[in-house]
Amino acid sequence: MAQDDIALIGLAVMGQNLILNMNDHGFVICAFNRTVSKVDDFLANEAKGTKVVGAQSLKEMVSKLKKPWRIILLVKAIQAVDDFIKKLVPLDTTRYFQDLKAKGILFVGSGVSGGEDGAPYGPSLMPGGNKEAWPYIKTIFQGIAAKVGTGEPCCGWVEEKAGHFVKMVHNGIEYGDMRLICEAYHLMRDVLGMEQSEMAQAFEEWNKMEVDSFLTEITANILKFQDNNGKYLLPKISDRAGQKGTGNWSAISTLEYGIPVALIGEAVFARCLSSLKDERIQASKKLMGPQKTQFEGDKKSFLEDIQKALYASKIISYAQGFMLLRQAAIEFGWTLNYGGITLMWRGSCIIRSVFLEKIKDAFDQNPELQNLLLDNFFKSAVENCQASWQWVVSTGVQAGIPMPCFTTALSFYNGYRHEMLPANLIQAKQDYFGAHTYELLANA
Ligand code: NAP
Repeated sequence: MAQDDIALIGLAVMGQNLILNMNDHGFVICAFNRTVSKVDDFLANEAKGTKVVGAQSLKEMVSKLKKPWRIILLVKAIQAVDDFIKKLVPLDTTRYFQDLKAKGILFVGSGVSGGEDGAPYGPSLMPGGNKEAWPYIKTIFQGIAAKVGTGEPCCGWVEEKAGHFVKMVHNGIEYGDMRLICEAYHLMRDVLGMEQSEMAQAFEEWNKMEVDSFLTEITANILKFQDNNGKYLLPKISDRAGQKGTGNWSAISTLEYGIPVALIGEAVFARCLSSLKDERIQASKKLMGPQKTQFEGDKKSFLEDIQKALYASKIISYAQGFMLLRQAAIEFGWTLNYGGITLMWRGSCIIRSVFLEKIKDAFDQNPELQNLLLDNFFKSAVENCQASWQWVVSTGVQAGIPMPCFTTALSFYNGYRHEMLPANLIQAKQDYFGAHTYELLANA
């Protein structure tokens, strides 16, 4: 008899854990997977003793579902989703139209964040797509999502097609946050010459301040971690960073929409540069930087300056991320609830932080806010950090430390606050060699 609440296809780490989460919330789930043997394995092991049921075919799966069928595809991105939709559609014989809605599928694309740990206990879910589907899935999605504050779920309807875009920007911001912390670490290590335990302590302290976040917290833990030989592990880890794609997609979108989200771009490029390890080894033997000198200033005060530079750069990164969301909303005609999006990122996500609360306040106070930097709280936060930020960037440059994200953030701030930029010269040159003409200022 058709009595299962929902089916989930894709029994890899995310799918299995999300099923167990839904089971814990009282829903009956039918599990299916392309490699069908994984269904039996899952039922016999991880799902043993639960109410989860399995299916050996798509046909069997849908026969067990209450109508309307609610099906989660948690498979490898894009191609796998297309493959399954093609197979599912013919099973509903009454509908054969071109788009999914006409074929009877109310398609929802949902960003999922929280990974292996978030999926079983509460992921952040960012659903968008056909809104007619929302009443059918809302209880399940909000039931299993992470909760923050007084139990608000980190899941709300995003907008038509915007769910994955929001998740993509989230991942881009994550790239930026991770890189900014690396630059702070580099300055502590190579300018201030701090020991690893001192750096761990600094990040622990910072985690009680404005930059309090999951990433700051784990940085302290990583710095403290010692291997079985009682040696710190971090210096032994290769400095060649990988990239799976989501940061790149954000960077590509910024170019596509013409929005200067340079910090995410620099975070991606920094990973690319790090991966050129063999070339860097050669270059390090040939290319000279500034003479290494002892830091002569007040170390404690410079450490505070680094924290402020990190905070200000982080504000710029989020301001840029929301600029990208805003532009996409204009392009696609979405009405995005920016405060609601921020709420979804507050639990389970890698970028979760106290700071997101302030962003939510800013957009709640003014849903039309053009730029986060124009909100009073963020405006004064950046202004208060400005002197430290400039000092850190100039000191780091003089010491030859690469800080692409700290510097691009400061450049963006300086550019954004300038009424007149030197782009008039670009326009004049374009006209000089290409007769592209230029626009004169109103008061010229
Ligand atoms: P994954 O490695 O991305 O995908 C594996 C699953 O996809 C398996 O069930 C596999 O079936 C199925 N699959 C792959 N290609 C397929 C195809 N062409 N047709 C049908 N099925 C196909 O698994 P995951 O890490 O659990 O991630 C699942 C989804 O969650 C992905 O979209 C991922 O981007 C997203 N996500 C993952 C994380 C994370 O931390 N892992 C975090 C957030 C979001 P077989 O067993 O038959 O190979």
